[in-house]
Amino acid sequence: MAKEMHEFQAETKQLLDLMVHSIYTNHEIFLRELISNASDAIDKLHFESLTNRDLLEGDEDFEIYLVPDAESHTLTISDNGIGMDRQEVIDNIGTIAKSGTKAFLDKLKEAKASNAAITDKEMIGQFGVGFYSAFMVAEKVVITTRKAGEKQAVRWESVGDGSFSVEDCDKEKRGTSITLYLSQEFYGDKAEENFTETYKLENLVKKYSDYVRYPIKMNFVIEETPKDKDGKPIEGAEKTKRNELRTLNSMQPLWTRDKKDIKPEEYNEFYKNQFHEWEDPLEVFHTKAEGTVEYTALMYIPSKAPFNLYHTDFEAGMQLYSRHVFIMDKCKDLLPDYLRFVKGLVDSPDLSLNISRELLQQSRELKVIGKNLEKTVLKTLERLLKNDRAKYEKFWAEFGKSLKIGIYNSMYTGGDTKDKLKDLLLFVTSKEEKLTSLKEYAERMPENQKKIYYATGRDKSIIEKLPQMELLKEKGIEVLYLTDQVDEFAIEALHEYDGKPFHSISRGDLELDDAESQEVKKETEDIAKKNDDLMKDIKTALGEKVADVKVSTRLKSSAVCLVADEQGPSLSMEQTFADMDNPMFKAKRILEINPHHDLFNRLQSLHEADKDSQNFKDYCDLLYTQALLIEGILPENPVDFANKVAKLMAK
Ligand code: ADP
Ligand code: MG
Repeated sequence: MAKEMHEFQAETKQLLDLMVHSIYTNHEIFLRELISNASDAIDKLHFESLTNRDLLEGDEDFEIYLVPDAESHTLTISDNGIGMDRQEVIDNIGTIAKSGTKAFLDKLKEAKASNAAITDKEMIGQFGVGFYSAFMVAEKVVITTRKAGEKQAVRWESVGDGSFSVEDCDKEKRGTSITLYLSQEFYGDKAEENFTETYKLENLVKKYSDYVRYPIKMNFVIEETPKDKDGKPIEGAEKTKRNELRTLNSMQPLWTRDKKDIKPEEYNEFYKNQFHEWEDPLEVFHTKAEGTVEYTALMYIPSKAPFNLYHTDFEAGMQLYSRHVFIMDKCKDLLPDYLRFVKGLVDSPDLSLNISRELLQQSRELKVIGKNLEKTVLKTLERLLKNDRAKYEKFWAEFGKSLKIGIYNSMYTGGDTKDKLKDLLLFVTSKEEKLTSLKEYAERMPENQKKIYYATGRDKSIIEKLPQMELLKEKGIEVLYLTDQVDEFAIEALHEYDGKPFHSISRGDLELDDAESQEVKKETEDIAKKNDDLMKDIKTALGEKVADVKVSTRLKSSAVCLVADEQGPSLSMEQTFADMDNPMFKAKRILEINPHHDLFNRLQSLHEADKDSQNFKDYCDLLYTQALLIEGILPENPVDFANKVAKLMAK
């Protein structure tokens, strides 16, 4: 096929532009990216060859080559992995199909627009832009590649200016060769970073790619002075040159080494290399087990949640190895979904290399390993919470949501997830500046307090001003502030902690049973009895909008508030459902009116004067709308509300 020109996708152009103008100052990482792609390509071929040996074409020595050339200012990275056919080159290299890269650009724009103090390094860390990093150091990139099992090879070329070409070419060995025509700053003796220098490249491989499991080879030219028969250099003799092919990486899998010999930096470097991460992990755990099932696991908690952690395109899961041979990436069924953020790998001689992904994921051995690993992670989290609160809170800020969703989902999946996770939850609270666990809350509860109270709202300052908080504040009762939408769902799923039921301050009766509260309750019942007609008529005036209208015991200075019925969703849950386009779930609204507020008298007199008057109806409506606004819910008809207020003000 003839040479074809293609335009990069708009997003790719943007990304290339960023790379060329180097938003990232650490240029050398391009090598790690290209080596990791080479290693991925070999993994893919290796995996496919398990079921189709012909693909190997008799060449089973997987390897990666670095070929620097000082004269032509090029560096070539070659692999004998799976390779690409014409369409794959166009699809994989020319366009950004991956939503991740798109999201990266969006986020970058967003960050730039809002001047957020987020560094490019952090940005790339979250997304990883792989191949394109080649354009940080090269003014032209040429790829020649032949897919394993196919005859025709293709050549791709681009100067990173918005277009690329593809054409047929010859290539004897299967796999991919990527040649970088280095930009001026990156070759020659005077360059600060010379990427044609063998020693420089050797150091980079040691630094970033030492654990890559295929040999990374490079030719060294060794200059030597000839020696005499006693092994002494012959003076004055002309130096000889010889080639020596060396493997640059140790390839010894880190996890097979003894824990006590591994330095923290080694764990971190391995993590970044293996899982394409930019930042050090928050926590590492390395365990060996010898029992019914033998395995070694190396697991990490990242320090940052990936941007798409809760998105359907996020692929959770650990890598699987059997006797140090890679079997599978992203094994899903190993860990429960609420630990989806854990990165790592498991190496077990008890896992079989030659069975299908599906069967492997369901194997008994894997189930046993998964159960143990889950325990290990939970133990580690418990330990952090107890001994390193600051670190745990960092974890919580990034991944707390996962655990909360886990508790919520356990309502449907059953099991003992709730019990496993309940002590790992942290909440904002009315009593303390720092976050609190349920255990800490329970320990602070006075003896006569039977329930754990909670309130929902966007943030602490908003919740603190809720009318429903007034009484509890006055009584000094601690309230958990649920500021994350999923909090309430998790709390509802938990139902109780340590025998103490949860109770929303915006639901039903607060059920305080101190003497004073009992008195207020009796007094309120009296008032309610006397004003039974008033309440009924307010309800009639409001029609479908409310399920009930009541005299309140919980209000101190505010005139009204809305609460939800004991059963069914709360008002904030209703909002969450509506946000998810699921407006079916409606809270049963109860309007509570403060009998000690001046407005109550006004209502009484309006009611007495004429309960069918428009004036009385307008008052009822305004009261209800106020209560809605306090909850952060917009009235259905804002214009109507504004007009009624204006009319009243003008009186
Ligand atoms: P990622 O590695 O995260 O998928 P990259 O930008 O690094 O993203 O690579 C894009 C894609 O190009 C890879 O997913 C792969 O399909 C293809 N690719 C890159 N390098 C190679 C290679 N050496 N051999 C085969 N395919 C490759
Ligand atoms: Mg890559």
